[in-house]
Amino acid sequence: MSARIRPRDDLALMEGYHSPQVDVPVRLNTNESPFPPPAAFTQRLAAAVHDVEWHRYPDRAATELRTRIGAMHGVGPERVFAANGSNEVLQTLLLTYAGFGRTVATFEPTYALHSHIAHLTGATVIEGERDDEFVLSLDEVDRVLAAGNPSVVFLCSPNNPTGREEPRELVTAVLQRVTDRGALLVVDEAYGQFASWTATELLTEDTPLVITRTYSKTWSMAAARLGYLIGPGWVVSELDKIVLPYHLDVLKQQAGILALEFAEDMNARVAAIVEERGRIVGRLAALDVQVWPSGANFVLFRPRSMDGATVWKGLLDRGVLVRNCASWPRLDGCLRITVGTKDENDAFLRALEETL
Ligand SMILES: *Cc1c(COP(=O)(O)O)cnc(C)c1O
Repeated sequence: MSARIRPRDDLALMEGYHSPQVDVPVRLNTNESPFPPPAAFTQRLAAAVHDVEWHRYPDRAATELRTRIGAMHGVGPERVFAANGSNEVLQTLLLTYAGFGRTVATFEPTYALHSHIAHLTGATVIEGERDDEFVLSLDEVDRVLAAGNPSVVFLCSPNNPTGREEPRELVTAVLQRVTDRGALLVVDEAYGQFASWTATELLTEDTPLVITRTYSKTWSMAAARLGYLIGPGWVVSELDKIVLPYHLDVLKQQAGILALEFAEDMNARVAAIVEERGRIVGRLAALDVQVWPSGANFVLFRPRSMDGATVWKGLLDRGVLVRNCASWPRLDGCLRITVGTKDENDAFLRALEETL
């Protein structure tokens, strides 16, 4: 047999992205919404399927979807880019502005897909560090900008997996530096609706800032794979040249438009999750664990006198799955729990108290 073709040499050592699923009663490991979309949404989407002209390509520019999303954020459709999950938004950004010969900056620990996709495009990644409380200093930002001269700088607020929000003063200061350097600042706000502030207020047509959002978490639509960004029109028009034609199918566009009509239901769910988050953090603070403040729909904690992996297994034995970050770099011994329904959260707290 002749030799098999190998993948690109620069990808040979890369691992894929994994989020192991285990079949247990209480699954609190992937930051999804614990609530399905409202029944009326599902019914109206089913009705919309009948009107689809399946023999035609979808609206390539997804004009109505972009218009509705833009209206929600007070901008026109020319400042909205939508794609298959915010992961495809990130990929398109990096294909356009990173790639071979360019550098991308991340501040760790953060969402693994930022550096992963940057590497896939052939870019170099420079990693900045946070302190023990997962707080980023402007000195560290300055060090990374000077050392790497990045084209694209990532912030994630609230940050996954720490839950911490970047303060407005920090984002404003980073944006000033990125602007002066002629680079692009990407603020990943996948959990933006759960937070106390949003960087969308810093957006202008003349600022090299984009904010990415997703339907996967707040909108109870992880199955639909839909995300978007808001940014300057001159960025959006470049992304439109790079993304594959007709990448957003007609049903997804419909689902995305329809979901926005249920904003009230969504806001009520966000409020319920934020309240439960407060309850979980309060209860954890009384246990033998270290816990960090969260602006998201999840909470990071670290058992003090027990090994994180052992606690993770103890929870699993009691039917509760959380994300095991215990062996991840910079997250030694940490676990991350997604806020679930009240009953699920009670099951988690009970299992944790028993395990500890
Ligand atoms: C979950 C998550 C996303 C969402 O990705 P989708 O592709 O929209 O599902 C993006 N960024 C962060 C930080 C996330 O945690």
